Amino acid sequence: MAEILSGKFVSEAINKAISSDIQKLMKKNITPLLAIIRVGENDSDISYERGAIKRCENLGIGYRQYILAHDASEEKLISVIEEVNNDRDVHGVLLFRPLPKHMNSTRIENALDPSKDVDCMTEASLCGVFTGKDVGYPPCTPEACLAILDHYDIPCEGKNIVVIGRSLVVGKPVSMMLLKKNATVTICHTRTKNICDIAKKADIIIAACGREGVVGSDYVREGQIVIDVGINVNALGKLCGDVDYTAVEPIVSAITPVPGGVGRVTTAILMKHVVDAAIKAAL
Ligand code: NAP
Repeated sequence: MAEILSGKFVSEAINKAISSDIQKLMKKNITPLLAIIRVGENDSDISYERGAIKRCENLGIGYRQYILAHDASEEKLISVIEEVNNDRDVHGVLLFRPLPKHMNSTRIENALDPSKDVDCMTEASLCGVFTGKDVGYPPCTPEACLAILDHYDIPCEGKNIVVIGRSLVVGKPVSMMLLKKNATVTICHTRTKNICDIAKKADIIIAACGREGVVGSDYVREGQIVIDVGINVNALGKLCGDVDYTAVEPIVSAITPVPGGVGRVTTAILMKHVVDAAIKAAL
């Protein structure tokens, strides 16, 4: 049976560290503040927003919600971003994406002040991830994958890591971040041939393909570590990952659960970035 790499303990450790930072900020009369901007009523956005708000309340982080109608104009959204950019009380901004099709996402994403870009939305922050320079904040989900490996003392240096998925949100940035940690990274996607053979050779598999249960028993072998980034809802309405957990867990040596794995740590990382942004703003 595999070791379960629970996100609970990782997020608790992150929360503990940031709680002491929050207390220090409070002594200076500073409350870290997250602005949450949502366009429309997407269920998964609302559910993530609810979780983020609960986390803010538990930790003593302030939050403000800016909710726009699904047909709001691009100019309206830009004006909200300019408002939070200019508001010295706001330290971090979470904008739900993808944005509605009538909006120019690139223009909107880059309108955000990079110093408040706590989820790596701007090209400036992404550039930092790809150049290996410390610009802005890395995206929360890829950082959550690394935080889990780190928490469970799983080194990346010299390891063969296979990332399944090449999106700009997860696959590509996590690959760059692993490369920075001296892993040997192979990125797989829908056109990859012999993907099962490639995955089987890995020491660590990061599954981020956005398809329920793609990584099955034919992708894995004994001794591997599997990080499941996926968040899917199956036919029974249950949350599940990109890994077929029932088939894979008995074979590998360690695996993250869904729910309670990467997703849980992602919100903790978001909170950490807001607190870090508040600390930087106070310098
Ligand atoms: P995405 O934009 O849909 O990208 C999926 C990637 O996976 C694409 O590069 C695609 O390849 C590849 N892919 C799809 N099916 C594949 C298959 N059968 N074999 C190999 N590669 C395949 O998804 P994303 O935004 O990166 O998200 C990935 C997953 O992470 C989703 O389940 C999402 O819900 C989850 N997620 C979780 C969190 C969290 O906090 N835990 C945050 C964000 C996302 P092509 O490029 O060739 O099309």
